[in-house]
Amino acid sequence: MADYDFDVLVIGAGPGGYVAAIRAAQLGLKTACVESRATLGGTCLNVGCIPSKAMLHASELFEEAASGKLAKLGIKGTVELDLETMHAQRRDAVKGLTGGIEYLFKKNKVEWLKGHAAFTSADTVDVAGKSYRAKNIVIATGSSVTPLPGITVDNEAQIIVDSTGALELAKVPGHMVVIGGGVIGLELGSVWKRLGAKVTVVEYLDQILPGMDGEIRKEANKVFKKQGIQFKLSTKVTGAEVKDGKAVLTVEPSAGGDAETIDADVVLVSIGRRPNTDGLALDKAGLSVNGRGQVEIDHDFQTKVPGIWAIGDCVPGPMLAHKAEDEGIAVAENIAGLTGIVNHEIIPSVVYTMPEIAGVGLTEEQAKERGEIRVGKFPMMANSRAKTNHEGDGLVKVIADAKTDRVLGVWIIASLGGTMIAQAAQTMEFGGTSEDIAYTCHAHPTHSEALKEAAMAVQGKPIHI
Ligand SMILES: Cc1cc2nc3c(=O)[nH]c(=O)nc-3n(C[C@H](O)[C@H](O)[C@H](O)COP(=O)(O)OP(=O)(O)OC[C@H]3O[C@@H](n4cnc5c(N)ncnc54)[C@H](O)[C@@H]3O)c2cc1C
Repeated sequence: MADYDFDVLVIGAGPGGYVAAIRAAQLGLKTACVESRATLGGTCLNVGCIPSKAMLHASELFEEAASGKLAKLGIKGTVELDLETMHAQRRDAVKGLTGGIEYLFKKNKVEWLKGHAAFTSADTVDVAGKSYRAKNIVIATGSSVTPLPGITVDNEAQIIVDSTGALELAKVPGHMVVIGGGVIGLELGSVWKRLGAKVTVVEYLDQILPGMDGEIRKEANKVFKKQGIQFKLSTKVTGAEVKDGKAVLTVEPSAGGDAETIDADVVLVSIGRRPNTDGLALDKAGLSVNGRGQVEIDHDFQTKVPGIWAIGDCVPGPMLAHKAEDEGIAVAENIAGLTGIVNHEIIPSVVYTMPEIAGVGLTEEQAKERGEIRVGKFPMMANSRAKTNHEGDGLVKVIADAKTDRVLGVWIIASLGGTMIAQAAQTMEFGGTSEDIAYTCHAHPTHSEALKEAAMAVQGKPIHI
């Protein structure tokens, strides 16, 4: 250790990096974590998962009260929007949680090196003009918003914004156009729709939520349309201009055809995220990136250079906080000589709209390609708790192998879908069957009973439909 400043130096303090640093320190390794942002927690805690959920939660409560839905339950009265207070509670949540990571660093003796890290050799990085040598370096630099060529985002002006700008809008736009019908666009579009904006989602593909199960994508589209969100599918945005404080978008059919313009008060560009690998001077460490800008790794999260590891959004795989966290634990355990494993076949994904949309494992389309399957479905409308709570939109779908009954995938649209999917992931992690779910006693009345019934439906024997 004499020659090294640290056993482990992690670059980036997002959910991948801060978790890796804490676990490495817990395992007795002298650990530092470099972060250039003013606060810890990365994209997720500062401008991603947490602030978006703070706005989703508050806007959902507002919409329930303002739209008269609560009146049906006998709760009457007028409500008014205090957007500044709504933003303040979002900022409070971020402050509390990012401060919490700082506390955990102190508790676990992880040293926070403030500044931007760049490699100067395979075992040395420069941070704010100081050189640090480490036996192991973990690249956990995350991702940033993908720009759309020809469209300039200016979060300060609040007309053409990215997801960070869309969290901070000082007033509810009259018309918001969301470019991209993926998770982030639908979540933030839902926030502003609930607060009173007209929202139009423009999507290049013929359906929203790419990568999810086909039936679930269609059903989700129906649910969002019922909520008043408008969609322009198979449509590409070819330009945007800002004129007199408004945006004018030019769009045309993805397959080619006549162009048209759409006026918007705010345009949210949310076409995806790209890895943060520029500025790391990877070449000095003997590393390069693949065609998608990602750092390639092996099963153990090792790059091709011994002693350099990489995890999270900057490596291939879904860009999700829980995937990054699990990789953070696994990489630290591998560095410590233990066996750290992440099962990348079973990473749940959730869209935190109302209802929530959740999935894990194979889509029906993917499962069919691999062999014979059985599918069981159950509508949330037939679940007593969801129906009682007026949350009947959606369904649960269980996909199982026809011969072994092993669960291959589960897809859920339900108000509590994001919570329900954990049971499906655990069943799949244990190699469980649809029968295992069907014969597990589920508390009544709960939304989770819909998962049990969908599993019973795999054998054609649900009770309540
Ligand atoms: C609006 C929004 C909502 C989201 N909601 C969800 C959600 O609900 N659930 C979910 O699972 N995921 C969500 N995500 C995605 C999630 O935020 C990311 O998958 C996750 O943060 C990735 O973690 P990470 O540790 O790989 O990287 P990041 O969280 O991006 O952290 C990387 C950190 O590294 C720092 N860094 C980069 N380069 C350097 C350098 N050279 N030197 C020093 N520091 C550096 C960056 O400043 C950053 O803080 C959301 C994202 C957005 C934008």
